[in-house]
Amino acid sequence: MAIRLTFWGVRGSIPTPGPKTVKYGGNTSCLELRFGDDDRLVIQDAGSGIRELAGKLLANDLKKGPIRTKIFLTHTHWDHIMGFPFFTPIFIPKTELEIFGPVSFEEDPLEKVIGDQLSYRYFPIRQAELSATIGYFALKESDQDLGGGVRLRTKYLNHPILVLGYRFEFEGKVLCTAYDHEPYQNVFEMSPSDPRYNAEAAEAVKEGAVAAAAENEKVAQFFRGADLLVHDSQYKQEEWEAGKKGWGHSTFKWAIEQAYRAGVKHLVLFHHDPDRSDAELEQIVNGYRAALAGKSRMQISIAQEGRTFEV
Ligand SMILES: [Zn+2]
Ligand SMILES: [Zn+2]
Repeated sequence: MAIRLTFWGVRGSIPTPGPKTVKYGGNTSCLELRFGDDDRLVIQDAGSGIRELAGKLLANDLKKGPIRTKIFLTHTHWDHIMGFPFFTPIFIPKTELEIFGPVSFEEDPLEKVIGDQLSYRYFPIRQAELSATIGYFALKESDQDLGGGVRLRTKYLNHPILVLGYRFEFEGKVLCTAYDHEPYQNVFEMSPSDPRYNAEAAEAVKEGAVAAAAENEKVAQFFRGADLLVHDSQYKQEEWEAGKKGWGHSTFKWAIEQAYRAGVKHLVLFHHDPDRSDAELEQIVNGYRAALAGKSRMQISIAQEGRTFEV
């Protein structure tokens, strides 16, 4: 297998332990990626799930030598970084971490945003006391060679702060992630029944729709032909339309439509709403599976803590 992905956190916004989320998991965003037979490790996001990944690394990887890895952050919203102070390798000498992520505010570099969680007002240990060697690197849209045959492309998505989508390519296989992300909307919407509606407004509405469609097409192109796509699906269509527009998340419907349009082979729905129970998740997704049966060969899965997907 070329790439193996294991989920350590699949939940959006805040950890949600409890009986209603025990099957798919209550930890926030953390993905473990392994490339090739030598098990090369890359981590994506440092949500609360990274604490359990740390346990696995200590039990297995550390026996083979110091932990040296890259952590790619999609963005710095709290649910994607809150686990960092509990990532045990940061307390172990000879650990080497390179942390990459988008920087939305120049006065707040990554080191400050991530590292300030380790200050006495929030945590009993300060960043300066960590034993690991940690480097922080601002990441933009880019196309880079990670070495060992792994190519990484990144693309900005639609969220209230800068967010990067990731596209990893290795041995002819493609794994993409697109969260936290909301479909681009027409920024100039006006109903023909509006008294201000005239020829000029009609033109602006048309142009706005064309621009939004073009941006959505660029995102689909970014994960074109992916073997596996991890996509935001926080909301049901009616939830999104009833007041969640602009919060930066997609619907199940949008994730499925975009993946289908891009010729994705396997879609994994991710960033589950904190209020979504296991039963409700399955009911929603089974509904879409039934509707698509016989029409599409795309496989649809629900991201689940502890589950591994191979491509
Ligand atoms: Zn999030
Ligand atoms: Zn976010």
